[in-house]
Amino acid sequence: MAASVSACTRFASACRKVGTSLFTSAVCGDRMDTERTAKLEFAVQMTCDSCADKVRAALQDKPGVTSVSIDVGKEEVLVESALTSAEVQALIESTGRRAVLKGIGGSEQDHGSAVAMMAGVGKIQGVVRFLQLSEGQCLIDGTIDGLEPGPHGLHVHTLGDLTQDCLSCGEHYNPLGRRHGGPGDSERHVGDLGNIVAGPDGRASFRLEDSQIKVWDVIGRSLVVDAGEDDLGQGGHPLSGQTGNSGERLACGIIARSAGLFQNPKQICACDGVTLWEERERPIAGKGRSKANAQAPAANL
Ligand SMILES: [Zn+2]
Repeated sequence: MAASVSACTRFASACRKVGTSLFTSAVCGDRMDTERTAKLEFAVQMTCDSCADKVRAALQDKPGVTSVSIDVGKEEVLVESALTSAEVQALIESTGRRAVLKGIGGSEQDHGSAVAMMAGVGKIQGVVRFLQLSEGQCLIDGTIDGLEPGPHGLHVHTLGDLTQDCLSCGEHYNPLGRRHGGPGDSERHVGDLGNIVAGPDGRASFRLEDSQIKVWDVIGRSLVVDAGEDDLGQGGHPLSGQTGNSGERLACGIIARSAGLFQNPKQICACDGVTLWEERERPIAGKGRSKANAQAPAANL
């Protein structure tokens, strides 16, 4: 299993470089990696032009980065990129500065975006973003940490209800009453996103495009990552046609509307006095909100 996973990851990486996403899908069965760029707006602590030069140097000419625009006065960095938002953030932070993603947008009209903060058993946590590129295509960009290496089913579920953790999220989102399938199948649940693959370090970083998910349909629902591999409806197990037999629900998050480009002017949250920078280290709600809590997912929206 480990060999096939690493081969899949390696192929996906190779395919990204040469832009043959169809080959990636064929090799990995269900992955629909995309080269499509998105625009990411970061707030970055910068006080002088030389800081801006360092940030620019960290981004410019990097594979997957198309353009970089920096406004020192506004402490704003706009990056057009085919990398995941976490990868771009890591490049900026390699300069020793902190960065907060404020907005995300496509290269065309704004069709809306959303974010799910994933949390679950043990140390599993992550952030997954949805950007509606056009009426027909949704870009899904995410990083989830703390997983067992290997493939894990990823699905949008019907309910945005975490009262019993991931168990109260309902079934796979299936408004058309279809059978479970893979993301490339016409016969599938709308929520069927196939598998993401965690590397040896437990991190799954992915960037895919889907034609059935619409941001406006999934806001208020939930995203769930499972313990095992989704068989895409092909496994012959009694659960294959319902869930892909991908095992227990490991982590989940409610899919919430997020800011498009330049829609988030916030620097200080008036409600509780937490600044944009402090918020990075705090959970978005709950008791940890009033004091730093490194265990909880940061409100890095
Ligand atoms: Zn399904």
